[in-house]
Amino acid sequence: MIESLNAQSLAWGRTENNIRALAGYAAARKAEIGRENVFDFSIGNPSVPPPACVEEAFRAVLAETDGVELHAYTPAPGLASLRKAIARQLSERGPVPFDWRQVYVTMGASAGLAAFARAVLRPGEKAIAFAPFFMEYRVFTEAAGGTLLTVPPRPDMQPDLEVLAGLIDETVKLVIVNSPNNPSGAVLTEESLRGIAALLTEAERKYGRTIYLLSDEPYRELIFDGRALPCAAEFYDNTVVCYSYSKSLSLPGERLGYLAVSGRMEDREAVFDAIAGGARACGFINAPSLIQRVVERCLDATADMGVYAENRDLLYKGLCALGYDCIYPDGAFYLFVKSPEADAVAFSERAKRHELILVPSDDFGVTGYVRIAYCVPKEMIERSMSAFAALAEEYGMKAEG
Ligand code: PLP
Repeated sequence: MIESLNAQSLAWGRTENNIRALAGYAAARKAEIGRENVFDFSIGNPSVPPPACVEEAFRAVLAETDGVELHAYTPAPGLASLRKAIARQLSERGPVPFDWRQVYVTMGASAGLAAFARAVLRPGEKAIAFAPFFMEYRVFTEAAGGTLLTVPPRPDMQPDLEVLAGLIDETVKLVIVNSPNNPSGAVLTEESLRGIAALLTEAERKYGRTIYLLSDEPYRELIFDGRALPCAAEFYDNTVVCYSYSKSLSLPGERLGYLAVSGRMEDREAVFDAIAGGARACGFINAPSLIQRVVERCLDATADMGVYAENRDLLYKGLCALGYDCIYPDGAFYLFVKSPEADAVAFSERAKRHELILVPSDDFGVTGYVRIAYCVPKEMIERSMSAFAALAEEYGMKAEG
């Protein structure tokens, strides 16, 4: 009987996230009217192939590793050689040291986020995320027994720190930042990160307990115009970095990422043990063995990120010229566009009539925007412009010049 099921899990399973629902709609539509006639901007699947070293590494690993060993369980936190290489890379990146013994290899950033939520939250405790945010934060924190509070963005998509200050109390254990951001493409400024760090440090003193900052960085390498990326760990010692190879190496289906505890964190050994416990509670045995070995050989490589910068320019300029109000993205591969009507769901529905698949922002914790994932072939962006123009005309938007 359905009443015997966990109602929350049933609801999560049935309310498929909007992105996947729209991607499903787009797939059905492509089958109906032809791939080339649907402008599918729904999902953040990289559109460029992995760098050549990935295929080379697959071949080398298969040729060089004993088959039994290759397909055996690895240690739960990952292969020591990979963890050491990750710690070295992170430590070389900036002034914050990372110890390989506090690097936990995960099945993508999703598994890292879920494990970390369980590592720190107890029932009744709270996590805070800055809107707009990756929608799974809510599922991961609530599944750990916590509650997710959200801080609205300022118009420039930087967090409203006054609201953050008002939300922090003795039950807040976890704050999540994501920069470059999905879905806005915004990069957190040093000023924002320093502001967050100051508020958390003050609250730690006031309440006599640690607040952990989880820096979700799957788009770390996807930053444009030669900008530097301010890193959370530099400004706040109780930081854990969450990373994924889904975007930088174009390997989302292979499921690999990690959690790395800052070497400046006092309780780092205990935090690592709690991460191991959180992962265990989720039933994560170890990240897949083959891809751990492959990624270890490709750590310094990335897929061709320049393609996304070109797509960004094309789409941003094209849509602004048509009269759309867009947030200029400094990173990631998403464009956040103001909906010309208050209801972004209604706008997304209308866009569908022009075969444009745009994700309404409501699930990201803000209303009134749509997200355009521009990790798509450039020629699709070019061809989509007439559809965007027809949609703009319906709303009486004024084209530039
Ligand atoms: N965090 C953010 C901000 C994301 O955008 C995504 C995926 O799109 C993830 C985490 C999850 O990534 P992964 O594929 O590594 O699970």
